Formats: sequence, C-alpha cells, structure tokens
Amino acid sequence: MKNIFININLAQKLTFLTLAITVLSSIITLGVLYFFILQLNDQFLASEMKDRESIIEHAFVEPLWNFDQNQIEQVSKSLISQNGFTYINAVRVLDSAGNILFDKAPKFDRVANMEEYARRPFTRIGFIKIKKGGEFLGTVQIAITAEGAMNKYRGLLMSILFFSFMIMGLTCFWINVFFNKLLTNPLSRLLLHVQEMKNAQFENHLYEGLSGELRDIGNTLNFSATLIKKRNDDLRHHSLNLEKMVAERTTELEEQILKNMNASRLVAVGEVASGIAHEINNPLTVINGQILKIERLLKNSPDQEGLKAPLEKIKMMSNRIVKIIKGLKLISRDGHSDPMQNFGISNMIDEIKLLTEMKIKSLSIDLEFCLPLGSVQVYGREVQISQVLVNIINNAVDAISTETESVDEKKWIRVTISEKAGFVEFRITDSGKGIPQSVQEKIMTPFFTTKAVGKGTGLGLSISKGIINDHGGEFYYNPQSPNTEFVFTLAQAQYVMKAA
Ligand code: ADP
Repeated sequence: MKNIFININLAQKLTFLTLAITVLSSIITLGVLYFFILQLNDQFLASEMKDRESIIEHAFVEPLWNFDQNQIEQVSKSLISQNGFTYINAVRVLDSAGNILFDKAPKFDRVANMEEYARRPFTRIGFIKIKKGGEFLGTVQIAITAEGAMNKYRGLLMSILFFSFMIMGLTCFWINVFFNKLLTNPLSRLLLHVQEMKNAQFENHLYEGLSGELRDIGNTLNFSATLIKKRNDDLRHHSLNLEKMVAERTTELEEQILKNMNASRLVAVGEVASGIAHEINNPLTVINGQILKIERLLKNSPDQEGLKAPLEKIKMMSNRIVKIIKGLKLISRDGHSDPMQNFGISNMIDEIKLLTEMKIKSLSIDLEFCLPLGSVQVYGREVQISQVLVNIINNAVDAISTETESVDEKKWIRVTISEKAGFVEFRITDSGKGIPQSVQEKIMTPFFTTKAVGKGTGLGLSISKGIINDHGGEFYYNPQSPNTEFVFTLAQAQYVMKAA
C-alpha cells in the first residue's frame, strides 16, 4: 500500500485523498442521518402504536372474555398485514395466566419471535393489556414496523446512493484531470528545467499556460539559468585567461630556472676557476723550471740520460693539467640529457678532489673521502652527480670558512660513501655545528640563500635535490648529526641491471 502511494503521481495522490475525504464524510453524514431517522421512526411508531391500542383492545375484549380461540385467531390474523407504510407484522396473544393463545408472524408460517423483532430496525414491540370492567383478560403483544415505508424508499435510496457514487467517481476523474493540468504537468515541466540546470544546461523555457505561483517559479528558474550561464561564461573566460597567464608565467619561470641553473653552474665553475688557475699555475711553473733546466743541460752537456727525469716530470704535470681541464669541462657541462648508465665513483671522486682541493687547501680545510673497499658502481648521470657533490662541498667550504666560532678549531669536510641494501649512500659532513632550525626549513626552497648578494643564487640545494630525486634517490639535510650533514642516495649499479 505504502509502495503504491509512493509510485503514483501527485495528482493521483491528491485525487485519492479527496476521494477518501469525500467517502469518509459521506459515511459520517449517512451514519448521523440514519441515527436521526431511527429516532424519528421510533417516535413515529410510538404514536402509531398509541393510535391502534384502543382499537386492538376493543377487538380482543370479546374473544378473550368468551375465550373463543377461533375468534382470537381471526382477530389476530386480521391485524397482521404487510400493506402500507407501517403495519403489524407479528402478534402474540396471552391469557391472564400468561398462556400463549396465538403466536404468529407474517404469512402465518412462523412463530412470532418478539425478541428477534425487537432487535430489527424500524420495528417497535407493544404490550396491550386487555381488560373488561376492571378484570384483566390477557395481553396482546404486537410488533409494529415501518418497513413498508423503508421498502418503498429502499429502491429510491439505492438509486440515490448509486448516482452519488457515480458522481463521486466522475468528480474524482475530473479532479484528477484538473490536478494533472493545473499542478502535476506544470510541476513536471519545472522539474525538467531544474534537472537540465543540474546537468549544466541553462536554456530558458517558455512557461505560457502556467499561472500564479507556478509561473513565478518558472520565470525565476529562467532568470537563474540566464544568470548562471552568464557567470559560467565569465568564469570560463577568466579561467582561460588564467590558464593562459599561468602558461606564460610557467614558461617564463622555466626559462628563468634554466638560466639560473646555468648561472648556478657558472657560479660553481667560477668558484673552482680561481683554484684551477692557481693549480694550473703551479704545474706550469714547474714545467717552465724543468724546461729551463733541460735547456741548461742541453747547453752545458748534451747528456741524453739526464733529460729523462725532468721530461718525466713534465709529462706528469701536463697530465695533471689535462685532468684538471677535463674536470672543469665536466663540472661546467649541462648533463641533464645524458643517458643514465652505470659508472664507478672513484674516477668521479678523483676529479672532484682535483677541482676542489686547491681552494680547500688555501683555506686550511681538510677534505677527506671515506670509500668502501673495492669499486663502487652506481647508476645515473655522472656529470650531474659530480655537480651535486661539488655544490655541497662548495657550500660546506663557504659555511665553515666564514664561521667565526670555529676559527680556532680544525676545519674539515668528510665525504663518506657506503653501500647499503640496494643503494649507495653519500654523507657530506663538515665541521660546522649544524644549520639553525628556522633556516633548515627553507634551504631546499629555490632562491633561498643566506649568502651575500652576488655570491649565492639559492638554487644549489634545490637543483641538487631535483637531480637526486630524478635519479630515484633521496636528498636531505640530516638534523640528527652533531655536525652539518647532507645525505643523498643513489641506486647501486648491479641492482638496476637486475631489475632491468
Ligand atoms: P646558495 O649556496 O647559492 O646559497 P644553496 O641552495 O646551495 O644556495 O644553499 C642554500 C642555503 O643553505 C645557503 O645559503 C646556506 O644558508 C645553507 N647551507 C647550505 N649548505 C650549508 C652548510 N654546509 N652549512 C651551513 N649552511 C649551509
């Protein structure tokens, strides 16, 4: 029942409700009416009874006085009839001792059961005492009824009821039609509009045929749809502009970052360049000295054997210069598009040593590399990894060479490389006492620097982190270490090969 009520439309629900209210009020009205008719009928039958009492009394005096059974029967039967609006349909005659002398109901075929008659609607039981000259002769019980009138009007009542139900049915039908036309159909149109809006369709609807509040709702929906459409268009326009602006700014930023990366590389190159110049100067001085020596030797005695040692030294020094130049080339090259490959770190470390040690020596800083025994192979872009290491070492040099509190203490930088399960860990520790918490949070942010204007770009660490992350490794500052320490990891060569 509940489900049926849920599944029918609003017009049907309202019709059903109207029908229920009509039927209920009809039943109540009919009930009240029936009660009043019963009351009226009872009063009517009481007066009818009174009218007939004296006639009946008169008719039974003689038969009872004579105790004439035949006469009693005849009189009794003459009383029973079924004609007219009211009539007597059962008679019971009792003598003074209470013996039943006559007891019949309509058609004389059954015993007049007065108790049953008493329960019938529109029927009343009367007791008439028969007396002669003060002597009690007996009692006549009669059931008087208005069923005749009821029978006469029953057909009419049924027709009235039938037509009432017909009219009720028709009314419900038309109510349904009107509810549909005035409420359900307009509501469906409004609902369709709302659903369209929900699906981001903001077309206006024509609401002719609708009136009153429903038309107002329709117009409001049209107004809202137009407004939302306009706002949407504005938003789309703004977002397109924004996207364009973001794209432009991103390109600019990318260009800037690229420039800065080059700048940062150039700074690193610049930083090592002075050292390199100094370093190249030494071997060149030696070469020059040796050349002078050879010249002298050649001038004084053309002894071929004596030339061997100086020439050997010249060779060594030239090799050293070649290596330094190679290292310089390595550090200044953009290696981001180099292929990833396995490489041994010992060569890379030799080159880094060459590039950094002259600056370090001049500042009385000890640079130490702790490597595991045997060759350590990693997977990545050698040039980029060298740049990361040089950058961290340069940062350490800058930090500890300017730290006032460590002036009297020994200054040192230690690069510890160790092999772990599946990766190689690089720990670059310096004699500094760590980076303050407030600075720690920002050091990996591009353009953050505590160095003097023109000295730091603030890009070294963020680029280094980017490079290591690109390699699938981790790059972080270790706040647990008592000294300033940066750590990064790289995949071990053989593990990558296994995975491949
Ligand atoms: P830059 O070196 O140009 O400042 P970086 O990104 O390389 O840019 O470094 C950012 C900041 O991190 C430095 O300015 C410095 O404050 C801090 N920093 C980096 N390395 C160290 C270190 N070893 N000791 C102390 N501070 C450091």
